[in-house]
Amino acid sequence: MNETGNSRTSSPVQALLERLHERHAGDLSGEVASYIPELATSNPTWFGISMVTADGSVYEVGDTRREFTIQSISKPLTFALALEAIGEEEVRRHVDVEPSGEAFNSITLQPGTGLPLNPMVNAGAIATASLIEPLGFEKPIDRILHEYSQFAGRHLKVDEQVFRSENETGNRNRAIAYLLKNAGVIERDVEEVVETYFRQCSTLVTCRDLATMAATLASTGVNPVTGERVLREDTVRDVLSVMASCGMYDSAGDWLYTVGLPAKSGVAGGIIAVLPGQLGIAIYSPPLDVHGNSVRGIKVCEDLSDELHLHVMSPARRPPPPIRIERTCHDSRSKRLRPPSEQAILAENGRRAKVLELQGELSFAAGELVTGSALHRAEHTDFAVLDFRAVRAIDLIDVPILSHLIESYEEAGGEIAFSDVDRHPLFLDELTRYREEEGLHPVRTFPDLDLALEWCEQGLIEKFGDLEADPELSLAQHGATLGMSIEEIELLSSHLEHVIFEAGELFYGTEMVPPEQMLLVTAGKISLLAEADVGGYQRLATLSPGMTLGEVSMIAGTPLAGLPRADTEVKAWILTAGDLEVLRARNPDLVVTLLENLLRQVAQRVGQLRAELMR
Ligand code: GLN
Repeated sequence: MNETGNSRTSSPVQALLERLHERHAGDLSGEVASYIPELATSNPTWFGISMVTADGSVYEVGDTRREFTIQSISKPLTFALALEAIGEEEVRRHVDVEPSGEAFNSITLQPGTGLPLNPMVNAGAIATASLIEPLGFEKPIDRILHEYSQFAGRHLKVDEQVFRSENETGNRNRAIAYLLKNAGVIERDVEEVVETYFRQCSTLVTCRDLATMAATLASTGVNPVTGERVLREDTVRDVLSVMASCGMYDSAGDWLYTVGLPAKSGVAGGIIAVLPGQLGIAIYSPPLDVHGNSVRGIKVCEDLSDELHLHVMSPARRPPPPIRIERTCHDSRSKRLRPPSEQAILAENGRRAKVLELQGELSFAAGELVTGSALHRAEHTDFAVLDFRAVRAIDLIDVPILSHLIESYEEAGGEIAFSDVDRHPLFLDELTRYREEEGLHPVRTFPDLDLALEWCEQGLIEKFGDLEADPELSLAQHGATLGMSIEEIELLSSHLEHVIFEAGELFYGTEMVPPEQMLLVTAGKISLLAEADVGGYQRLATLSPGMTLGEVSMIAGTPLAGLPRADTEVKAWILTAGDLEVLRARNPDLVVTLLENLLRQVAQRVGQLRAELMR
């Protein structure tokens, strides 16, 4: 059971941590560190496991609230502080980033450069600590503690007893510091630097603090519990890289191979491991192996990595393919309802317009895959749409790549558009700027896929239909009169009234068209709108000549679903419910034919709605 009475006991993650705790609790192999006398007083049975996710959820079991000293887990944190304080270049003039394959306390410098091998071994960590200026604090250690506290999300302090114990016995570290001073790596007073280093190692933390620190590194430098940004993103990358290659000293290679997570251990028994983007793990268990790493800490990490598939190189971690789905205008239509003549054109040529719905995080490789796939088919299609609705993020590296896609697609004779890309304003701005600079035309964009589809359809109709401009349909050409004789059409027409709406007019439910009427549209375009939650209108459908409006609500006596607006000048015939009654009495066969034709149109609309629900 976890000692905090945490309410997450029922979650599978909590259950897993409890299982691991139980599995390894009895394993007391290894030795509690004793070279720092004060550490030897630790009880080997103390054992805690904590996990903090990138969204700030905390899971813990065992001794997760017991304080102990951070020791070497301080090293990546001070390294991060130094990187941000004096810049990468300056830090690299004092410490290398090569895995040493040697013990944490080895007294060696890099043969060629004379620098400590990396900031995770003592020599490198002491050099790093020497780089921290107090900057507004009394001493460097105060600034360091301030930073560690931000990582933990609570105020941390030094265990004076452990500090004194190490300060009195830490002659090996003093020797390393003098070596560094001699090599010109340390410029300050050696005693001062060593004191700072011993104090940072003696910072008191809990297992939960360490997991929060690890989670801060996992979530790009923002502490997920406090929401505070502690580090810049580029610093996080540098720190995690060094942790991955050097964090476990002379067992770093084995660790990366088996556990596969950037990690850091300390001789008091703590270990942290980071799954970038997702979570931080910490274990506290004092008995150590010969490398100075917590025995149970390693075992728990191995099991967690295995059971939760955390290894960063694991194939299970590969991102989803960038193209979520590929369709054509043959199987995917816009909400615009079209007369049979246009439908026939789309049925025949719909495959010449291609839609790629993209998804996930588009990296360089993803951009290349999209380009490859779309280009591959360029010769077979005339129109292409890249839809960005399901894209979570795009790397700006894709700007030239996708721009090149536009060019090569158009060189092959096609036209291409992006839909829903304004949800990535940074990318769109950069793409616009880039194309402007290169002297290329702006990218064609649509606010949503539906409008982009309509653009494709229109393009196909213009390309493959006969190019005559839309004249007004005669009543005999209208879909509602299909199968009627000339006499019947004449009779029907005597009961209709011809109307014209101006472009932009919202007309239904107004005096112009009361609800007990329907329209037979013979020219122009009508959009059916719904008021959107976010304000403004959302388009439900577009009607073209040959279609009817209001037939369902007239016959069923229900309100019209949507608000009609004339997108262009619209010409139509009005049939009222009263006239339909009169017609029924005069020629019931005519009314049956009319209703059959209307039913066919309704069926088309229902079919389209269904297709839309499925996509
Ligand atoms: N303070 C310890 C030392 O320098 C830290 C070592 C460690 O945790 N590996 O010896």
